[in-house]
Amino acid sequence: MAHSSYPTLAELGSVLEVLAADFAQLVELETIGHSTEGRPIWLVSLGQRTAGRDERPAFWLDGGTHCAEWAGVVGALDALERWTQRASTDPRFADWLGQHTIYVVPCISPDGYASMMSGAPYLRSTLRPPPDGTVRTGWSPEDIDGDGVVRLMRWRHPAGAFVIDEAVPLHMRFRTPDDDAAEAFFVAEEGQFVEWDGVRWTGAKREFGLDLNRNFPGSWRPFTMFGMDAGAFPGSAPESRALVDALHARPNVSSAMSLHTFTGALLVPPYRADTPLGRGDVALMASLGRDCVRNTQYAAIPVCPDFTYDAANPIGGVWADSLATVFGVAGYTLEIWNPFAAAGIEMDNVAHFFRDPDPDVLQGLVAHFSSQPGTRAWQPVDHPQLGVVEVGGIEMQRTVRNPPDERLADELDTVFRIIDRARRVLPKVRCTVTVEVRGPESADLLIIVENLGYLGTAGIEQAAILGRVPGVRVEVRSEHAAVATHDLGQLDGWGQTRTGSGSMPLLPALPARGHRTSVRVRVDGPGPWTVAWHSVRAGRGELVVCR
Ligand SMILES: [Zn+2]
Repeated sequence: MAHSSYPTLAELGSVLEVLAADFAQLVELETIGHSTEGRPIWLVSLGQRTAGRDERPAFWLDGGTHCAEWAGVVGALDALERWTQRASTDPRFADWLGQHTIYVVPCISPDGYASMMSGAPYLRSTLRPPPDGTVRTGWSPEDIDGDGVVRLMRWRHPAGAFVIDEAVPLHMRFRTPDDDAAEAFFVAEEGQFVEWDGVRWTGAKREFGLDLNRNFPGSWRPFTMFGMDAGAFPGSAPESRALVDALHARPNVSSAMSLHTFTGALLVPPYRADTPLGRGDVALMASLGRDCVRNTQYAAIPVCPDFTYDAANPIGGVWADSLATVFGVAGYTLEIWNPFAAAGIEMDNVAHFFRDPDPDVLQGLVAHFSSQPGTRAWQPVDHPQLGVVEVGGIEMQRTVRNPPDERLADELDTVFRIIDRARRVLPKVRCTVTVEVRGPESADLLIIVENLGYLGTAGIEQAAILGRVPGVRVEVRSEHAAVATHDLGQLDGWGQTRTGSGSMPLLPALPARGHRTSVRVRVDGPGPWTVAWHSVRAGRGELVVCR
């Protein structure tokens, strides 16, 4: 089951079907929606298929928001396979799956994934077409030489902005004023001009510009960057709408991870300086993020300020931020794979690289990944519009954007350690009842409810603030009638204690609210009485007691 290559969409679908058939008591496969082109968006529920599976504390994992980030798709599949296998060999984990549920959406954008897998030019997310009536004019990426990979194309011209890098001949470095005009080149993604006037060398707008990870409800606003946009309104794309609806229908989820590439980092809140999250939630999620990446090569990076492209123009509509700010779920983006570290390049802030790429870093990446099998040296190609040009370069998909095949299994080992830590933080309520006899006919039931999870019973406090998650409810029933119903409020998790009152271990204090509470209920008669407790995110259960 160790993955040494990336599955096609069809392969992914058949693996999910086989898992659902072979582990029918644990795995359920369903479709939560369809992509722009009508492909199914799959959701797998993992947990013992006994009553109340969708009311147990739950963890959410997804991948493939960005369809070129293949390691996220295989990372979600790999985690699902590991958990499923482990359920057969580890009775404690099998028992855990009887009390909790894991939801996995391995490929949020199946159109984009299938398209990138078959060698289409770089796509951010989906195949949402441009608005009706759009005329695209200019250079449009496509595979000109038919080798199934869109690489780079270069042609000599004295107005070109690039020259050949003598040290790394595959690499085209930035031209400087010292360089001879005769050595200058134009460089673009492999492609050709559409609706061309035969003269201008300008780029066309992207054909498929939607970035799904700007189309979610958290701080959504109209937005464009790198020729990509946020969609018409939050959830305007069928893929993001399906995801939002599926999560909304599963209020039992309190911890989540969304898999992306490439940085080698877990992104933690805040996503912007004016985040609606309270300080307690930000501190808790930062701390949990650091716990998740402990003893790995991955860093836990706060998006604001360290992973922000442009502080004056913060991004909105991000899924992980929506998970936290809209749904009150401790949700993270995991950026799998650090190509810079793999190439031996030290980077303290990858966001700076995307904004203002350092020539030495670019050279280092190309130099390192040139040895990969997908690399092609510059070769002449007869271009239908430009005459003879040259095509060459590394294959970006299995070098920079995703781990090379031979590095994939190792990377997924680390990725799974991180994901599996986020799974183990779910809130979990347990209850004890003591009968205190008060007289021949009456008694008090002392009901003690406590949360043993890292997260509080709300998940993060934002969920309670937004009214998404009511407090823990306790009901007492006699054989024939309801006796009493109480709202016991929210209970802390130990992660909250650690990042709150206990955050200074030299002088730790107990919290104001705490993890445990109680209620006394007067009952008459001989019983028995049923004490039932329910927390949307921390589980439910019942006990029957007698005098
Ligand atoms: Zn991404």
